[in-house]
Amino acid sequence: MTVYLVGAGPGDPGLCTRRGAALLREADVVVYDRLVDRSLLALAKPGAELIDVGKRPAGTAGASVPTGADRQAEINRLLVELGSSGRTVVRLKGGDPFLFGRGGEEVEALRAAGVSWSVVPGVTSAFAAPAMAGIPVTHRGWSTSVTVVTGHVGDPTAPGGVDWASLARAGGTLVVLMGMATRRDIAEELVAAGRPADTPVAVVEWGTTPWQRTVRTTLAQLATVDLGSPAVIVVGPVAALELPPALGALAGVTVVVTRPRDQSASLRRALAAAGARVLELPTIEPGPPEDGGSALAAAAARARDYDWIAFTSANAVHRFAAHLRDGRDLGRARLAVIGPASADALAQHGLVADLVPTRASAEGLVEALGTAPDGGRVLFPRAAGAREVLAEGLRGGGWVVDEVVAYRTLEGACPPAPLADEVARAEVVVFASPSAVRGFLASRDDRGQPLRVPPVVACIGEVTAAAARRAGMTSPVVAASPTPESLVAAIAHRLGEPSAGCPPAERGSGDPAS
Ligand code: SAH
Repeated sequence: MTVYLVGAGPGDPGLCTRRGAALLREADVVVYDRLVDRSLLALAKPGAELIDVGKRPAGTAGASVPTGADRQAEINRLLVELGSSGRTVVRLKGGDPFLFGRGGEEVEALRAAGVSWSVVPGVTSAFAAPAMAGIPVTHRGWSTSVTVVTGHVGDPTAPGGVDWASLARAGGTLVVLMGMATRRDIAEELVAAGRPADTPVAVVEWGTTPWQRTVRTTLAQLATVDLGSPAVIVVGPVAALELPPALGALAGVTVVVTRPRDQSASLRRALAAAGARVLELPTIEPGPPEDGGSALAAAAARARDYDWIAFTSANAVHRFAAHLRDGRDLGRARLAVIGPASADALAQHGLVADLVPTRASAEGLVEALGTAPDGGRVLFPRAAGAREVLAEGLRGGGWVVDEVVAYRTLEGACPPAPLADEVARAEVVVFASPSAVRGFLASRDDRGQPLRVPPVVACIGEVTAAAARRAGMTSPVVAASPTPESLVAAIAHRLGEPSAGCPPAERGSGDPAS
């Protein structure tokens, strides 16, 4: 099989390419580096093997590969072995795989062993980190060239060493990667070769992440900059520019979203637009009913006996429709739905909703169906265990209602260790239903431990907030209206209050609230 060298992007998971994300979803094995954002790993399918080959201090738990000089040889061997095993392998590398990522060496090893490979280029930190600090690496009238160079060199005259004097003479913008340890020497060499000591310099640490920090200085002062790795050093006139985007209300805040992935898109977008880092941890998932769906199949076979078939969720639509050959099985029965999402779900099966109430609620549907004609019958495929306003309301209107369980909400997630670690450090968790709250509490990390509840719990409505309070989560944030924007505003408001959240130094040190 093929080993895909995929560029993960510089840090922000949104900067991984679409092709890279698609391959991550398909992979049987993901071999990843230290700097790769953990929420990208959550894209991997359940059961995919995640192998951390990141550099860690020797002896640290979780290091699957030795540190030191033969680490790369060990990674190469691992890739060859996995690539020969018939599984789909993604080698996920920070930034772009072929820019100081040793991707070329990995490819050589794969080729030598006859393993097929393919590369998915990535957004490199060399350009993305300056960009997010408001620095264009070239700029009309300021710089017409950019050179990306490694600062991780020993003897500059050795083969592969960096000729700093030539770079100093070449002018333009210099972007130094892996240069923090040697920043004093680099500055001295550049000044000695003729770059003015007051040349603007910007150091961007953890670029594109919520923890990004930027320090602007000059070559003369570069040695005193108090930032660590990973950082890029930008040298040249453009380093004095600052065209930063306005910071969102949730900049730097990590938010866990617990909705099923296919229902969380608008919430994710609203959070990301406000600058939040979003971790997806679906804590509920629709599953088959306890009888495996036999009651639903029997009901679907009698569909033509009903006047109406009513749906209050897309899940119920999909489960029910799976038992139909096509629309003819419905006879003269008509289809009623609670709102547009269920109507869309019907459309996906080539069925048209006969009734969509103007008010998208159970009450709205009851009102729209009105009083039953003599012997009027409704089939209602629904979720197991739900409190169903609809069935009661319809019976009040004289309808004979047959309820059948179409699906069951499975509660609880088992996130891979890296994601569980990130969740443990998140400031905010968002719940959109009581079952998502229960699902979070039922979730376990890979050691079987419950997940830590983040300090701020945000709920989409009062029913969910009540469930959160019952679960011991004190003072949940509730959106004024059930829209993503309103929820974002409510979270921002809470984080702005004194004593809300926790300062970065204490990230992850809170007590479990459950
Ligand atoms: N292939 C990667 C670079 C790997 S070398 C890429 O294209 O981005 C590792 C170096 O990249 C780090 O020492 C640092 O200089 C830089 N780097 C990686 N991620 C970074 C980030 N988020 N912010 C700033 N610098 C980063």
